Amino acid sequence: DDLGPTICVGEILVEIVATTVGDGFTEAQPLVGPYPSGAPAIFIDQCGRIGGAAAMIGAVGDDDFGRANLDRLRRDGVDVSGVAVDPDWPTGSAFVRYRADASRDFVYNIATSAAARFGWTEAVAAVAGRAGHLHVMGSALSMPGAWPVIEKALVSVRLRGGTLSLDPNLRKELKYDTETETRFDRLVGQADLLLPSGEELERAAGVEGEAAAVARLFERGAKEIVLKRGAEGATCFQPDGTRTDAPAFAVKELDPTGAGDCFGGAYVACRRLGMTVEEALTYGCAAGARNVTVRGPMEGAGTRAELDAFIRNTARRG
Ligand code: ATP
Ligand code: MG
Repeated sequence: DDLGPTICVGEILVEIVATTVGDGFTEAQPLVGPYPSGAPAIFIDQCGRIGGAAAMIGAVGDDDFGRANLDRLRRDGVDVSGVAVDPDWPTGSAFVRYRADASRDFVYNIATSAAARFGWTEAVAAVAGRAGHLHVMGSALSMPGAWPVIEKALVSVRLRGGTLSLDPNLRKELKYDTETETRFDRLVGQADLLLPSGEELERAAGVEGEAAAVARLFERGAKEIVLKRGAEGATCFQPDGTRTDAPAFAVKELDPTGAGDCFGGAYVACRRLGMTVEEALTYGCAAGARNVTVRGPMEGAGTRAELDAFIRNTARRG
């Protein structure tokens, strides 16, 4: 559709990664970064980089971490006119270290950073007023200020006949308050496209079992459900019963962070550019797989040409 750019609302961060495997940050150790990050930012960066019209809504601090993010988004074709530069608060950050069992330790500064301090301004209203699609990452709901912006942006997009996609992206470990759960549930009920991974499908549906969860989400109005399965690839379900499976690309995983976000950015961009489900799944899987081969949460996001080369040169699993 040509309704206008895909917009994404949420946290913009830098990520700083420990170069060794181990437990946390209580001792001095080698780190690498800052890398532009934040699930919504990774999504929109991949969306723009593959050639989809894209705009970001959020905030960074007036510091180098913020400039690193703005430079990256601009380079990849993302409109950042809806990103506020907070004069007082620093850009959000996440320090990450992988443990031997592949779980992760984090030190976050999000709630007390510029990342969480954005609202509905004239600049945001202008971007939302031109948008044809809104993508929401569940993680953004943990910032109280994001909700009014998401609500207003959705009204704006709907007025233009636009659509909504939702990546539940909720941390299983975290318990969310009732208000956040209610907001999440409202988005589930309004989303045209859902992009859950693993257990998020059942969590979003509130029903156990893959088939039952898919059926429940179609009852609630979803028009397309894409289940991400990590190294197993992805599956698209449609209300008429069509099921499209896409095998993963065979790659060596170096840094899993951002795979789902890159998948989503590529998938949404491709669908909005008029590609079939099958084509969009191929680009989504390629974007996710390519991104895990590179250290840094969005360092492996690909252009259309880079992903075409990746698809030509990489075997598929299964
Ligand atoms: P995230 O960890 O970023 O939240 P996610 O759980 O939302 O990710 P995944 O299913 O892990 O999403 O990854 C999205 C897509 O990226 C997968 O459907 C797959 O196509 C691709 N992908 C992810 N990990 C791998 C891998 N190790 N090998 C090949 N492809 C992968
Ligand atoms: Mg995810």
